[in-house]
Amino acid sequence: MKKGIHPKHYYTQVVCGTCGSVWPVISTRENMRVDVCSNCHPFYTGEQRIVDTAGQVDRFMRRLRTSQDQQAEIARRRAEREKPEPKKRSLLKEIYGEDA
Ligand SMILES: [Zn+2]
Repeated sequence: MKKGIHPKHYYTQVVCGTCGSVWPVISTRENMRVDVCSNCHPFYTGEQRIVDTAGQVDRFMRRLRTSQDQQAEIARRRAEREKPEPKKRSLLKEIYGEDA
């Protein structure tokens, strides 16, 4: 190698954040991290699943649950509002009793 023209390189490793696989590489960067690798990516494993390292599925499920709660509350209030009021007793019956 000619001196003074090559960047500094490291004997380091790449770590997969999903399955924890580690493999050695030579790179100009140290301690690299990937979200998914060929060891755990659904394309290579053949199994259907969602790789969720950023918590996006949890966030979506939380938003969905909140939305469903709000919809249920709105429906409950609407049903309460549209419920017919109980009929008032007639004034005559109130004064003279049921046999009037
Ligand atoms: Zn992996």
